[in-house]
Amino acid sequence: MSFSPSIAESSTNLSALIEALFAQRQDAFASLGSAFYTRLPASPLPAPYVVGFSADAACLLGLDPAIAADPGFAELFTGNATREWRHEALPYASVYSGHQFGVWAGQLGDGRALSLGELDHAGKRYELQLKGSGRTPYSRMGDGRAVLRSSIREFLCSEAMHHLGIPTTRALSVIGSDQPVRREEIETAAVVTRVSPSFVRFGHFEHFYAADRTNELRTLADHVIERFYPACRESDDPYLALLDRVVAATAELVAQWQAVGFCHGVMNTDNMSILGLTIDYGPFGFVDGFDAGYICNHSDTQGRYAYRMQPQIAYWNCFCLAQSLMPLIGERYDETVRSDRSVADAQATLDGFKGHFGPALERRFHAKLGLHETHEGDAALADRLLGLMHASRADFTLTFRRLSQVSKRDASGDAPVRDLFLDLAGIDGWLADYRARLALEPREDDARREAMNRVNPKFVLRNHLAETAIRRAKEKDFSELERLAAVLRQPFDEQPENDAYAALPPDWAGTLEVSCSS
Ligand code: AMP
Ligand code: MG
Repeated sequence: MSFSPSIAESSTNLSALIEALFAQRQDAFASLGSAFYTRLPASPLPAPYVVGFSADAACLLGLDPAIAADPGFAELFTGNATREWRHEALPYASVYSGHQFGVWAGQLGDGRALSLGELDHAGKRYELQLKGSGRTPYSRMGDGRAVLRSSIREFLCSEAMHHLGIPTTRALSVIGSDQPVRREEIETAAVVTRVSPSFVRFGHFEHFYAADRTNELRTLADHVIERFYPACRESDDPYLALLDRVVAATAELVAQWQAVGFCHGVMNTDNMSILGLTIDYGPFGFVDGFDAGYICNHSDTQGRYAYRMQPQIAYWNCFCLAQSLMPLIGERYDETVRSDRSVADAQATLDGFKGHFGPALERRFHAKLGLHETHEGDAALADRLLGLMHASRADFTLTFRRLSQVSKRDASGDAPVRDLFLDLAGIDGWLADYRARLALEPREDDARREAMNRVNPKFVLRNHLAETAIRRAKEKDFSELERLAAVLRQPFDEQPENDAYAALPPDWAGTLEVSCSS
């Protein structure tokens, strides 16, 4: 082993971490072979400093949160320390391809990401990946860097989504450096360390399918099945079963996005996790005033990834995955129709998306309305509310949160919701019908309120909240980032002292634009 003396001499925690990283160079992904990645050290960043740290993510890895204070921490999680590592232990950038904005983009890959390795803890294994650690063979025209602003957004949202109960990659830290990075203007560099059981994307499969490399395609699929979907092995056709599981996980994920008003912004196939995790946080956004056509990505001029498009796009992306798996899905000659059924079977599996998504979404909105029993017309009631919210641009998060104050007995608790709407006659009519529906529920107001407040968050990462933390961080004041991260750790709790974080966005928030530039 040959880690740098400065790190070896620092606290035992960090040394133990590095030893573990070294010891496990049997990393499952890296064992797939050199067709899948290139090993290289990170490009160093001068004088790195810790901007943000998630003690929760550290605990996930079995790391003592005190390691963030270790002087070696920033050196390791910028990738600076990797210069000293021997070749077989170097981090790796993986190759993938993908469809970007509906168009085949050919080879992409980790253009600014490097996997440090995998860590085992409590029976689970996590890959640690640096983002913004310098150029790789897959950088194309990019500089391999990520700016502080986008790194903070990814860090905050990864952890916020986790605490909302939504599947996501996690984030351990953001490390900053004063090294300038050119975007629309000069900004500074940062590295976010992401944590996930796997960073395999639909695009990894598309890559080997497009290159007609069926052996590698099978190796990849077998790896994903063995590690993450072992039950598929029991199936007649494990690859068809894999497609079925990924379709289900993706449908479930997007239903969860829709239910909190989350817009991903760049649902390209290379940004779709094979595990159904939210991955690659760029120009994402939580809708404030509800607009079903909300486009969070300023670069998305056609609205391909608008809020209401997300389910359809997820299905389209699953189609791309299905196509990539076709060489593995066994031919099944059907005597009765004298043809191969594999395409029909894949299509049927793919169409399972609707069967998963519809009920998953309905279930979530049913809970958001605080309904315990199921009655005909429940889904229509939720749809009508969304229609009224859209027409009035009523705040998504506040509308659902305040709905818990409505009483099944009288209109005494209506005002907080009503105040969010311009169409008062519309919302009054809806509230009357809602109350009539609540009357059919045996549950009392208190119990319903409690249940609703566990599914309708009070706090989400609104754009302006992230922006405020970013502005302060640019001045080297990271206290707002820390405070915001703490608020978002308990998004369903009242936290009355933090009411300001749950308020309607200020006027200046309307001028914020988030684009692909990161
Ligand atoms: P994204 O849309 O951010 O998911 O990125 C699409 C592709 O471009 C991925 O392969 C990224 O690794 C790559 N990429 C994005 N930004 C950069 C950058 N600054 N330097 C190198 N590669 C980048
Ligand atoms: Mg990406």
